[in-house]
Amino acid sequence: MAPSPILIRNVRPVGFTPNTAPQAATDILVGTDGLIKQVGPSLIASPGAQVIDGGGGYVSPGWTDLHAHVWHGGTDISIKPRHAGLERGVTTIVDAGSAGEATFHGFREYIIEPAPERILAFLNIGSIGLVACNRVSELIDIRSIDIDRTLAVAEANRDLIVGIKCRASHVILGSWGITPVKVAKKVAKILKLPMMIHVGEPPPTYDEILELLRPGDIITHCFNGKAGGSIIEDEDLWDLVSKCADQGIRLDVGHGGASFSFKVAEVAIERGLMPFSISTDLHGHSLNGPVWDMATTMSKLLSVGMPFEAVVTASTTAPMSAVGLKTENLLGIGTKAELTVFDLVGSDLKVRDSQGATATLKEMFEPRWAVMGSNAVRAARHMPKEGTAVVCTCGAHN
Ligand SMILES: [Zn+2]
Repeated sequence: MAPSPILIRNVRPVGFTPNTAPQAATDILVGTDGLIKQVGPSLIASPGAQVIDGGGGYVSPGWTDLHAHVWHGGTDISIKPRHAGLERGVTTIVDAGSAGEATFHGFREYIIEPAPERILAFLNIGSIGLVACNRVSELIDIRSIDIDRTLAVAEANRDLIVGIKCRASHVILGSWGITPVKVAKKVAKILKLPMMIHVGEPPPTYDEILELLRPGDIITHCFNGKAGGSIIEDEDLWDLVSKCADQGIRLDVGHGGASFSFKVAEVAIERGLMPFSISTDLHGHSLNGPVWDMATTMSKLLSVGMPFEAVVTASTTAPMSAVGLKTENLLGIGTKAELTVFDLVGSDLKVRDSQGATATLKEMFEPRWAVMGSNAVRAARHMPKEGTAVVCTCGAHN
């Protein structure tokens, strides 16, 4: 089907300038070439235009999930991109290390290239990536890392690979300690790319990992509630994390099945420590609870005191900047349309964090449309199947 122009009516832009209040309602016209043609009140629909009624809700830069797992079929843990993408209001999915150098070519050919979403990737420092996640560790010993091949794959795929991922917790590293993080940092430095580090159960400790990071690097699972991994149980770690965040090390939420605590997030935000980015860590064991989707994760951060505008920024231009995407003039004439149309609605939805703590969300982000160039896709939150053993609606997991 040939693309038609898209006219988005009556939406309040938010997030195009970081951390600022929504602007007055406007219309946005996107041409058949996917570029923004006009922005202003009461635009006239071009002939054959698809008209989207925003109903006085919001439009933001396309939601960008900095941590998800979508190498479906190449890892046992990944979901299909569509379960985390446009249909959930997310225009850019950043895969956090599902593929290593040995498996990236398949990820590129079979998942990334056909997907309507933009998919970028952190390349796992472990050659096999998350093939049999947490059953066969990607970092058993030094044979798990091939520096030459990792550098070569990253160089050959610079259009998609935006950094190096290393999972630094004892379930993955066993007694290997901090060494793989040092090797990952070395590789990232050679490539001049950021590193994303998963923190969790020590060893290695959160503190010793932070010592290796530099501005632009990302700590994911920043608000985990694991013993020895939480930032609110140790004032020295709290001070170090605050200092690192001030210096430009990015704190990413990475909710996941095991890595987000309401308590930790609430205390951190109350004490003025905001996450740089909000991400889901969606995979086959978090999709149907506790994570569900990007909108619910954003709503959880809102519920623990993060201001609305800050939540939007942490879900759009902040993660975009972390992976080198353009963040200026995203509503400018001639810019490719990558937009999420959403509402903020009253709610009494009961949700869980990764520790099993419950909360009631009073306000909920509800995605309505995702616009990717000339492709406008209806979006909605994931409707979890309560208590189902099947973790992914694609039916391939159990
Ligand atoms: Zn993950």
